[in-house]
Amino acid sequence: MTEERLMPGIPRRVHLIGLGGVHLSGIAKVLAAWGHQVSGSDMQTSPTTDALASIGVTVFEGHKAEHIRDAELVVTTSAAKPDNPELVEAHARGIPALKRHEFIAKMLESKTSVCVAGTHGKTTTTGMIASMLVRAGRAPTYLVGGDVLDLGTNAEPGDGDVIVVEADEYDRAFLAYAPNVGVVTNVEPDHLDIYGTFAELSAAFRQFMSQVKVGGTIIACVDSARVRELLDEGGFAGNVETYALDRNADWNARDIEALAEGGQRFEVLHRGEPVGIFEIKMSIRHDVANALAAIAAGHAVGMTFDEMRLTLPNYAGARRRFELVGEASGVTVMDDYAHHPTEVADTVATARQRFTDRRIVACFQPHTYSRSVYLLEGFRTCFRGLDELLVLATYAAREPESAGMDARALAGEIQEPNARFVATFEEAVDLAVEMLGPGDVFFTIGAGDVEELGPMLLERLSRDKQTRTDYSDLARAIAEITDVREHEPLSRHTTFGIGGPADIYVVAKNSDDLADIVIRCREHDAPVFVLGSGSNILVSDKGIRGVVIENRARAVTGPEPDGEGGFRFRAESGASFASIARNFARHGYGGLEWASGIPGTLGGAVVFNAGAYGGCLGDVLDSIRVVNGTGAVKQVAAADLDLVYRGSSFTKSQYEHRVVIDAEFTLWPGDDSELMQRVRQLDQKRLAAQPRGRNAGSIFKNTPQHPAWRLIDQVGLRGHRIGDAMISEQHCNFFINAGAATATDMKALIDLARDRVREQFGVELELEVSLVGEGFDE
Ligand SMILES: Cc1cc2nc3c(=O)[nH]c(=O)nc-3n(C[C@H](O)[C@H](O)[C@H](O)COP(=O)(O)OP(=O)(O)OC[C@H]3O[C@@H](n4cnc5c(N)ncnc54)[C@H](O)[C@@H]3O)c2cc1C
Repeated sequence: MTEERLMPGIPRRVHLIGLGGVHLSGIAKVLAAWGHQVSGSDMQTSPTTDALASIGVTVFEGHKAEHIRDAELVVTTSAAKPDNPELVEAHARGIPALKRHEFIAKMLESKTSVCVAGTHGKTTTTGMIASMLVRAGRAPTYLVGGDVLDLGTNAEPGDGDVIVVEADEYDRAFLAYAPNVGVVTNVEPDHLDIYGTFAELSAAFRQFMSQVKVGGTIIACVDSARVRELLDEGGFAGNVETYALDRNADWNARDIEALAEGGQRFEVLHRGEPVGIFEIKMSIRHDVANALAAIAAGHAVGMTFDEMRLTLPNYAGARRRFELVGEASGVTVMDDYAHHPTEVADTVATARQRFTDRRIVACFQPHTYSRSVYLLEGFRTCFRGLDELLVLATYAAREPESAGMDARALAGEIQEPNARFVATFEEAVDLAVEMLGPGDVFFTIGAGDVEELGPMLLERLSRDKQTRTDYSDLARAIAEITDVREHEPLSRHTTFGIGGPADIYVVAKNSDDLADIVIRCREHDAPVFVLGSGSNILVSDKGIRGVVIENRARAVTGPEPDGEGGFRFRAESGASFASIARNFARHGYGGLEWASGIPGTLGGAVVFNAGAYGGCLGDVLDSIRVVNGTGAVKQVAAADLDLVYRGSSFTKSQYEHRVVIDAEFTLWPGDDSELMQRVRQLDQKRLAAQPRGRNAGSIFKNTPQHPAWRLIDQVGLRGHRIGDAMISEQHCNFFINAGAATATDMKALIDLARDRVREQFGVELELEVSLVGEGFDE
C-alpha cells in the first residue's frame, strides 16, 4: 500500500519558507507523505519543525539564498517579506514561487473541495468534517488550522476524492479558493489590521461566497446578522443552504440536550424534516451550530445521514478548546484558544457553568496589538464571571508594538474583574501560585503560546520536596532523533482526558525511530512507556516518570499473497487499528471488520489482544517484531504470545520491557460492499450500546459467569459519581470523565465498584484498563 507517487501537478522538490507555521507545516506533512522531497526554513526551529525533520523534511534555521538548493517550486507563508533572501534567490533563478494559499488553491483543483471560513469556529468545523470523512473510510485530504485530537494531526493526504481545508481570512488568503462547498460560520469584526474596516472584511467574505463554483453549495450560518445581510445581497453561483440555532433555516437543530456524561444530543432537521438524532462530545452550545455546518457539508459531498450519525460522536475537538491540562495540589488547570471577545465570553460562560461553585482565575494573553484596540469594547466586558484575571504581555505574532495597544494598557481597561498585568511567564506562575488554593480552577486563554504556562504552573504546584531524576543527558540524546517535550500533560493524550505530566515526552514517527528511542532509553537506564492512543489506560495525577513515547509509526505495507488464498500485511504498531480495519474492508480484505470501532493503535491491540463481536486480533495475527530489554529487535510468532481474552505475554508482565515495533497478519479476499455493510452494522450496534463522553472503554473484564456491567448495576452504582468521575447511566462498565475528573476520583470509583461487588457477590472484578504512573501501585 506504500507505492511512491507525487501530488498531481506539483514537482518533486519543494521548498517552504516559514515552515514552522500551522498551515505550512501541514502542507509539508502532506507533501512528504506523497513522496516529495521537501525542505523548508524558519527564523527558529521549533517542536513543529523538529517533528517535520523526523519525517524526512530538511529543516533550515534562518533564511539564506543557498537553502533553495535544487528546489523546483517555492511556497511561502503569507508573512514572507519580498526581500526574503530565499524568495529573492527563487525569483533570480526563475523558480516558481507561490504563497501558501495559491498552493492550496492548486491542491483543491484535483478533488471535490470543501473550504470552511468564518470569524469563529472554522477550525472546529473543518476538523469535524475531516474526522467524519476519515472515520467513514472516505480517506479525505485535509488541512486544518490546529491539531484534530482524535486524528492526532492537523493535515493528512488521502486517496479519497474530497479535500477539506480551513479557509483563513487573514491576508485575504481565502480569496484564492473557488471551492465546490464553501462554509461561512459567521462574520464579525476581526483582522481589521488587514482589512481596515468591518465593511471591507464583509466584502471579502461576500467575494469568498461568490467564488463557490456553479452547482456547488454555500453553507451559511444565519444566526450571524452580517451573514444574513450578505445573503440578502444575492447573486451567488452556488446554491445556498442556511443553518441556524435561533431561527428557521435549511438546517436546524431541536431538542438540544446536555448529556450528563459531557457532550450534547440534538435532532437535526433538513428543510423541516427530521433526519436523525446526532451527538457530539463538545459541551459548548455553538458547537451544535458547527455540527450543523459539518452535517450540511457532509451531505453536500455525498455522506449519508447514517454515516454522519455514526462518525460525528468520535470527533474529540481541536486541540486547545476548553482543554483540561492537568491537576496539581487540588488546582485544575484548563486551556482555551479564545482570542476574540465573543469567544472569550463563551469560554467564561461555559467555565462558570461547568465549575459552578469554584473560584476561577484566568491568564489571558492578547494576540496582536491591533486587536486590543479595535476590539477594546468587547475586551472590557468579556471576562465578566471570572474571579481573578491576569493579562500577560501581548503575543505580537507579525505585528510591531506600534500597531496598537500593549497588554499593560489593555489590563488597565478591564475592570470586571480587575485585571493585573504580568510581563513574563515566570511572573505569571509566581503570582498564580500565590493566588491559587485547592479547589480553584486556572485557565490559560489566548491564541499565542500561553498554553505553555499551564504545564509550568502544574510543575511548580507539584514540585513537592521530592527530587526528580535528571534526564537532561537522555533528552539531548533523543533530541537527535525527534523533538523532546518536558512535563507534557498526559491528559492531552488519553481518551479519558486524565493524567499528570510525563518527565520526557517524544513522538516516534516511524518504527526505526521507535526502536532507536527505546534503545537510547535503555542505554540511559530510563523507564520507557509506549503510548498508543491512550484508550485503555488511566494515568495517575502525578504522571509518568521517565520517557513516554507517543507511537505515530503508521506505515502499512502489503498485500502479499500467502500462497493459500490469503493476503499478508505488515503494519507499524502506531497504525490506527480502526482505520486499518475500515480501509481493508473498503478494499475487499476481510477478517478485521469487528475492529472498525476500536479506538487504539495496533500495538495496544496486540498487548490486550483487542477484540469485539466474537473476533480478536489473535485470529488474524501471524507475528510481531519487538525491541527487547537489551535493545535487540526480534520476531515473535503469534503462537508464542500467550494471547487470551484481553491479555497477552505483555499484560502478564512476561514481556514487560518489550515494545511492539510492527505486526504481520493475514486477511482474506471478500466482497468490499458486503464487508463495508458489516462494518456499518457493527458501527450501529456500537453506537447504540456505548455511551459518549470521555472514557476508556470497558473498565473491568467480564467474568466467566457475568458481564461486569450487570454486577456493577446490581450493587446500585449506575450513574454514581465521585467528583467528575461517573459510572455511565447507559452502560455501567463505562466510567466517564464528565468534566474535570482527576485520576484520584476515577480510581476511587473503580475501588468502590470492586469493593461493593466483592462484598455483595464474592466476585473479584479484574481491571481491563491499565493503571499507570506514579502513585498507582498495581
Ligand atoms: C470507546 C472505547 C471503546 C473500546 N472498545 C473496545 C473493544 O471493543 N474491544 C477492545 O478490545 N478494546 C476496546 N477499547 C479499549 C482500547 O481501545 C483497546 O484496548 C486498544 O487496543 C488500546 O490501544 P491503545 O493504542 O489506545 O493503547 P494505550 O491505551 O495507549 O496503551 C495501553 C497499554 O499498551 C501498551 N502499549 C501500547 N502500544 C505498545 C507497543 N507498541 N508496544 C508495547 N506496549 C504497548 C502501553 O504501554 C499500555 O501499557 C475501547 C476503548 C474505548 C475508549
